[in-house]
Amino acid sequence: MRQSNLLGTTLREAPAEAETINHQLLLRAGYIRQLAAGIYTYLPLGRRVLRKLENIVREEMDAAGAQEILMPSMQPAELWKESERYGIYGKELMKLSDRHEREFVLGPTHEEVVTSLIRGEISSYRKLPVTVYQIQTKFRDERRPRSGLMRGREFLMKDAYSFDTGWEGLDETYARMHEAYRQIFERCGLAYRAVQADAGAIGAEGETREFMALSGIGEDTVAVCSVCGYAANLELAEVYAGEDAVRDISNLPAAEKFHTPGIRTIAQLEQELHIAPEQVIKTLIYEGGGKTFAVLVRGDHEVNEVKVRNYIGASGIALAGYEAVQAQAGVGSGYVGPVGLSLAVLADRAVAAMTQGITGAGERDYHLSGVVPGRDFSLAHVADFRTAAEGETCPSCGQGVLHFHQGIEIGHIFKLGTKYSEKLGASFLDAAGRSKPIIMGCYGIGISRLLAAVAEQHYDEQGLIWPAALAPYKVHILLMSTKDEVQKAAAEALYEQLAKLGIEVLLDDRDERAGVKFKDSSLLGIPVAIVVGKAAALHQVEYVDRRCSSKEVIGIAEAVSRAASGQS
Ligand code: ATP
Ligand code: MG
Repeated sequence: MRQSNLLGTTLREAPAEAETINHQLLLRAGYIRQLAAGIYTYLPLGRRVLRKLENIVREEMDAAGAQEILMPSMQPAELWKESERYGIYGKELMKLSDRHEREFVLGPTHEEVVTSLIRGEISSYRKLPVTVYQIQTKFRDERRPRSGLMRGREFLMKDAYSFDTGWEGLDETYARMHEAYRQIFERCGLAYRAVQADAGAIGAEGETREFMALSGIGEDTVAVCSVCGYAANLELAEVYAGEDAVRDISNLPAAEKFHTPGIRTIAQLEQELHIAPEQVIKTLIYEGGGKTFAVLVRGDHEVNEVKVRNYIGASGIALAGYEAVQAQAGVGSGYVGPVGLSLAVLADRAVAAMTQGITGAGERDYHLSGVVPGRDFSLAHVADFRTAAEGETCPSCGQGVLHFHQGIEIGHIFKLGTKYSEKLGASFLDAAGRSKPIIMGCYGIGISRLLAAVAEQHYDEQGLIWPAALAPYKVHILLMSTKDEVQKAAAEALYEQLAKLGIEVLLDDRDERAGVKFKDSSLLGIPVAIVVGKAAALHQVEYVDRRCSSKEVIGIAEAVSRAASGQS
């Protein structure tokens, strides 16, 4: 490709709304352009990188035995009503209607469509197992599109779905997919972790793993053990249970009320009354699953809403508003306590382990001290309800400590079980002629987000630095002076020669100053630059490795053979 013809100019400055490195660099280097919030065009360079990612994903999916299909983006709303997701998917679902006022959605994911496809195609165990995948544009009306391709409203996803006759079969398929994901992310040169994740949101019945690209801009926090292989999304990372504390609560005095005018927070209790947060029991009122209930955690701990939600079995929970708290607890939130509360009380394990604690008194301007869990309020619901903290003991090995990293979710695999096959009636006849629901798994990779994540991990102050497997071109020839016939002829000859060898090469033949060409080349991030300048008269060029900025003057013939061997 001749750069003089290439669509997409480089920009000196990124638009102000681009806050993350990948977003800034992909815009500045002319890989993408925004059409509307969360909606992007891929310019030729961006399209090439995207295509490389697609091909890596395609190769690994094919190798894992999955078959490529392509399903429609436009999906009848009835299917979503059948799966009962039409209502609960919420505002992210893009809805539209046709000329006959029939309702459709623009697919944010394809469990419904693929299950309805399979129920029509497969009726016998003889045709199972089968795994299908597609690489396709998805639509989600995200509340906050963010960071360019990272959280788009229209984005490219690889979604795969597996269908097995039993859970053992699914276990095997799932393991194969897990391995394929590992291959894909390694080939992309990504620093990532496969972590335990919450399955509740999609209603999976079994195991699930999230694949997290490690990055400071990640929206997720990942807890990783310093010793064993434990890694989990913080939204579900367990807390080390340790030994059961031995409590003797037999001869403790009754709880006592004390006056705390205007003191509503743990911080105020600490500052004004010198009470350590770990002596306090925090009481939070939540609503979810049609119920109102209290959650208790120690004053120095945080409630983990995913754990609470999964315990309750609700699709979502939220802190009760001011009025609901008043109505249920008879007092504002700063003074709510578990003693005498007529709501179900969920106590975190650390609360249940306390001999006594300080709580709100359920009365304005008063707290209680000497409150004994199990004596003064019920311990009928004790579980791990808090968020793990950095530096705490690993819940898996009990040896290491948890370190936290920020992560970008680039892929997610689930053992779905029969949730969709039962709702949509995808069943098969087993060898004995009995009808059974098909056991499903689903496996997603955000391909456009992956592109952004790779960019976010591969750059320096001058621009992008693509891993060779993803670079839009392998070699960037920089012709220093278009007016110099010797240089021009040498650059053209080199360009032809590399192209003939099947090497993807971009020739900067623009009528620009050398400085501009060097700057743009670094911004674009092509792994190797071959600079054709004055030394061309001596049949020599400068061979530049983008990663380490090493420069070497070598003969043109050697430059060709180095580029051909993929060396840098
Ligand atoms: P998130 O928590 O980031 O919203 P999700 O749980 O909604 O992700 P899935 O439904 O599991 O995501 O989708 C599969 C994959 O698609 C994700 O792992 C992610 O890589 C990608 N993805 C999801 N939403 C977006 C988006 N808005 N823009 C780009 N990629 C996305
Ligand atoms: Mg989402």
